[in-house]
Amino acid sequence: MAGNGDGGQGSAHGSALGRLKPETRLVVGGRDTASQFGFVNPPVYHASTVLYPSAEDMVAHRARYQYGRRGTPTTEGLENALRAIEGPDCAGVALVPSGAAAVSTALLSVVSAGDHILITDSVYRPTRVFADTILKRLGVETTYYDPLIGGGIASLMQPNTRAVFVEAPGSQSFEMQDIPAIAKAAHAAGAVVLMDNTWATPLYFPAFERGVDLSIQAGTKYIGGHSDLMLGTISANERTWQNLRDTQMTLGLCVGPDDVYLALRGLRTMSVRLERHQRSGLEVARWLAQRPEVLRVLHPGLESDPGHALWKRDFLGASGLFSIILKPISEQAVYAFLDALTLFGMGFSWGGYESLVILFDCSGYRTATTWQPGGPALRFHVGLEDTGDLIADLEQGFAALARAR
Ligand SMILES: *Cc1c(COP(=O)(O)O)cnc(C)c1O
Repeated sequence: MAGNGDGGQGSAHGSALGRLKPETRLVVGGRDTASQFGFVNPPVYHASTVLYPSAEDMVAHRARYQYGRRGTPTTEGLENALRAIEGPDCAGVALVPSGAAAVSTALLSVVSAGDHILITDSVYRPTRVFADTILKRLGVETTYYDPLIGGGIASLMQPNTRAVFVEAPGSQSFEMQDIPAIAKAAHAAGAVVLMDNTWATPLYFPAFERGVDLSIQAGTKYIGGHSDLMLGTISANERTWQNLRDTQMTLGLCVGPDDVYLALRGLRTMSVRLERHQRSGLEVARWLAQRPEVLRVLHPGLESDPGHALWKRDFLGASGLFSIILKPISEQAVYAFLDALTLFGMGFSWGGYESLVILFDCSGYRTATTWQPGGPALRFHVGLEDTGDLIADLEQGFAALARAR
């Protein structure tokens, strides 16, 4: 594994690239037109074996590419494009088969038996399951903390605390976290900061500038953008990159070339899609906030949200995902609302071009905080449809809710 040139990934960070705005880096990053006969995009390499020209070359591993699992021009295209948008502090990007695999791989790259880690109580639930099962079995102890703890996390640091995991806004519940303050306390205690940055993406939250060491995305969501692939990405800084790359390679994780290509294709348009998701999401959230059936809207981009000040200070935008709490009503009325919607599909995942809604409840598994929202909770993903049509669809849902009350 060593000596195969994985220490750095190509030259995504020429100083020229660093001077460009993220939206421009999203377009030019990871392109290698000269080695592709002038074609704009890389080919989809379906590949395992790479042939060496001579015995001497083989013994010395003397080749630009070694083996399909270790990377192809297709995977490098996506890795380098992502690295370009993460900014100059990103030392490398690892691609894995899902967002869940990105979480587990990133954690496995930093912990050892006997270590302690801190995870926000608002974390994506499968992350919690990974910590409570596999990490526990491997001798790693997890403490969940209040997402609003900020710099107070210093008081939870133990001599063996190796990592602090943050996610903002919180999965489903949308609490904001003071990530710079948490990172400062974590680094002072020698711990590494991991973040699930799926909601904001590097375009709306420049994780490395805010103190994060390992930034995770479910590429399934906004990078892919079309609900047609599964992918996870982990971006690392200089401190964490080599361990991450070694862990990924030792676990044997790689992604099929068609999914890598689709992700690269999706990534090129992510800034325009996100702009639209942000604008439409805020419009629909504001409309919902003034409905009599709605108790609260959980969206840090709204001035009324308790996390708004932190969002404004640290984030550059909002995506199209937020939640609402309905005033108490019967289960049957909630189902009538959901069943009456025609443009908001009911289904898991998000980040595609289409609008979605799910019913959720965090009350059964939180351990550091309690979840008592005061009514049924729904999470919306606002897609790229016309907002007038989406609002008409919701109006229809509220009419059905009123009839079923
Ligand atoms: C969906 C999601 C994941 C997991 O991604 P998959 O590709 O579905 O495994 C991780 N974190 C967050 C915040 C997510 O929403």
